[in-house]
Amino acid sequence: MDDLLLRGGIIAGRQQDLAIQHGRIRQIAPTIPEPVHKALDITGKLILPGFVESHIHPDKAFVADRAPGLSYGGPPPQVLVAELKKAFTVDDIYERACRVMWSAIRHGCTAMRAHVEIDPYVQLRGVEALLRLQATFAGLLDLQLVAFAQEGIFHEGMTQGMLREALHMGLPVLGGCPYMDEDQRRHIDWFFETAEAVDVPLDFHADSSDDPSRLTCEYIAEQTMVRGMQGRVTLGHLCTLDVLAPDRRARIIGKLRQAGMHVISLPATEMHVKGRADRYAWRGVTRIGELRAAGVNVAISTNNVVNPFTPYGHPDLLRQALVAAMAAHLGNLDQMAWLLDLITINPARAIGLKDYGLAEGCRADLVVLDAADPAQAITEQAEKLWVFKAGRVVARNMRTSELFVSP
Ligand SMILES: [Zn+2]
Repeated sequence: MDDLLLRGGIIAGRQQDLAIQHGRIRQIAPTIPEPVHKALDITGKLILPGFVESHIHPDKAFVADRAPGLSYGGPPPQVLVAELKKAFTVDDIYERACRVMWSAIRHGCTAMRAHVEIDPYVQLRGVEALLRLQATFAGLLDLQLVAFAQEGIFHEGMTQGMLREALHMGLPVLGGCPYMDEDQRRHIDWFFETAEAVDVPLDFHADSSDDPSRLTCEYIAEQTMVRGMQGRVTLGHLCTLDVLAPDRRARIIGKLRQAGMHVISLPATEMHVKGRADRYAWRGVTRIGELRAAGVNVAISTNNVVNPFTPYGHPDLLRQALVAAMAAHLGNLDQMAWLLDLITINPARAIGLKDYGLAEGCRADLVVLDAADPAQAITEQAEKLWVFKAGRVVARNMRTSELFVSP
């Protein structure tokens, strides 16, 4: 007997039943006969695999009220947040990160890769807080942690050792930020060598500026291939791609594909931070459509939540899909049809999730949207009616409205 039968949802463009047994999808078929322990009628509602946040910072979320916002000629967000981090305690980080997790679950997220900052300001307090968070949310939201050097590694003598210590504490991914060090190649080399020594994948914040002379993604792709790390290196941002000449951009995108790079675009942060000092408002969002067309695995993610980097960031990936559609000119119906892949199957591949997807045998991590197709889901910002983690309901959402008029 199945534990739960979802009746009549839209899967792969047509109405189908989905049976869940022991936390996994047992069967997907036009009609699945009972008996079942419980059936849920979701006729005509879109079923997707659970949303995946592939790049987010819960440790510095919800601190916008502790710092001034960005202003022309004022300090950049890195400087504002570096100052705040000195006062972060383990409990403070944990409590703010919990808010991120609850909100993410409510919005359909079932797995997340979070960057945990490690530097002389916050030291290993973020690691301690997020390991506790990971245990708290086990079974509700899978949390994968990246040992991340937001402030660079060559300004002082502490960070390199603390990154190694975090890997020994069990963090399974190493994250660099080349643009925070003067010598970017030296930074990149250190991360490759350290990752190779302990056999972990890499995730870089890369190419955040509009200065083509600071481009690093081509070098990272070359190193990935030289060191045989294809498929194990992820790049967030890649804003600089947007300002390259089309032929050079196409050549570099080809190299990213060849190296099996995963690219995560962070459109809300880019639109808030980029182009502040320019005559024009540079959007800064990477070339999502071109990367995808070239065969690069590309995803979008929330990045920041209510802090100086993105005061209106919110762990709602359906919202990020709308932001990306607007920011990257992806609003045609055929584009919106694949845009939801960028918050589901593509980030799942980037962070190496196993048994993920809408197929028999996969874990029943699911979200049911109050929409019939992806375009309607994005444009109407459809409610996430049901969220399932391993077959268990973890959130139910409803919207009510009343119109007090008649024709
Ligand atoms: Zn980030």
